[in-house]
Amino acid sequence: MNYKNFPMVPRVVFGRGSFNQINDILAPKRTSIYAPFIFLLDNVFKNNPWLTSRIKLSYDDRIIFVSSKEEPKTSQVDELVEDIILKSKERPSGIIGIGGGSLLDMAKAVALLITNEGDAQQYQGWDLIKNPGIYHVGIPTISGTGAEVSRTTILTGPKLKLGINSDYTPFDQVILDPELTAGVPKQQWFYTGMDCYVHCVESLNGTYLNEFSKTYGEKSFDLCKEIFLDDNLSEEEAQNKLMMASWHGGMSIAYSQVGVAHAMSYGLSFLLGVKHGIGNCLVFDHLEEFYPEGVKIFKQMKEKHGIELPTGICKDLSDDDFDTMIRVALSLEPLWENAVGKNWKQTITPEKLRGIYKKI
Ligand code: NAD
Ligand code: ZN
Repeated sequence: MNYKNFPMVPRVVFGRGSFNQINDILAPKRTSIYAPFIFLLDNVFKNNPWLTSRIKLSYDDRIIFVSSKEEPKTSQVDELVEDIILKSKERPSGIIGIGGGSLLDMAKAVALLITNEGDAQQYQGWDLIKNPGIYHVGIPTISGTGAEVSRTTILTGPKLKLGINSDYTPFDQVILDPELTAGVPKQQWFYTGMDCYVHCVESLNGTYLNEFSKTYGEKSFDLCKEIFLDDNLSEEEAQNKLMMASWHGGMSIAYSQVGVAHAMSYGLSFLLGVKHGIGNCLVFDHLEEFYPEGVKIFKQMKEKHGIELPTGICKDLSDDDFDTMIRVALSLEPLWENAVGKNWKQTITPEKLRGIYKKI
């Protein structure tokens, strides 16, 4: 048995208002006055001086606004990397991603592709990255994905939606400032929060479970129940707790895996561009068979917050479309092995997945 030697985020700041320390944290990491810091910010923060005015740009530093309407694509990463290399006098001092999972993943991927030749799609998979990326910092502004702790950056490429999983992927620094999540719209708060909840359920009910994953997963699971089912948290407490739930949920799957909802949600996302959080919800809603208790609680959370999931998403799809989604979902072998066990291929057939997709 070979145990995984798991890299972790070496530095993290937690606290309301901790984003104010950004300039002090970055300053010692500047490699030269010709080596800029590149800030990748979610478009939603354009014209938001409450956030942007706290970033002090020096020398050639710049802010690039990035849309998260669609999830990160390998081509988008390649374009950003090219633009950054072309416009920087020297290799940048660092990449700082500010936003949700989309922006965090974009920042990780860009940092890696600056030092690894070729296109992002070449590195989708496990441990294909050869050189450490440049210094990269993650600052989440919405909680749930665990992208702030994970060793992957999930990208949609021409053939697959698949992460760049590597020891060089995790951030060198994370700033957890729950205040930054204040403006998140309710629906989005629920969907991204449920990503965290589903991470816990899939980790805690997987065959890969071990005490490392279990302790993180249980803590995160309890926090999610407190946040999404109880009535006694202030808004600030709920923000603080969800940020830590996301962290713990991410740590839990780091040493295990996700499961059925994620595998099938990748299929939806690849074919239809359904985003990760809502995609997981759409699938998870029909997974009683795999996660009876988890799905029951999920339905309670949905009801409590008046969330109505869209229906009929797959109703007009062709056979080819279903085949594409099934192919993408089945390609994620470790997820199925975690969910169902070593002999998963005996029960997880294309017909079985088609049946579930048809309900969505
Ligand atoms: P997101 O980053 O796509 O953001 C969702 C929406 O929230 C966007 O419209 C964004 O503009 C908005 N938003 C973000 N912060 C806001 C704020 N403070 N105020 C107002 N609006 C705000 O959503 P997400 O659910 O955080 O991330 C999904 C992405 O994360 C997917 O691409 C998925 O593949 C990826 N992901 C990565 C990992 C990983 O380990 N790397 C894990 C899970 C998911
Ligand atoms: Zn997820």
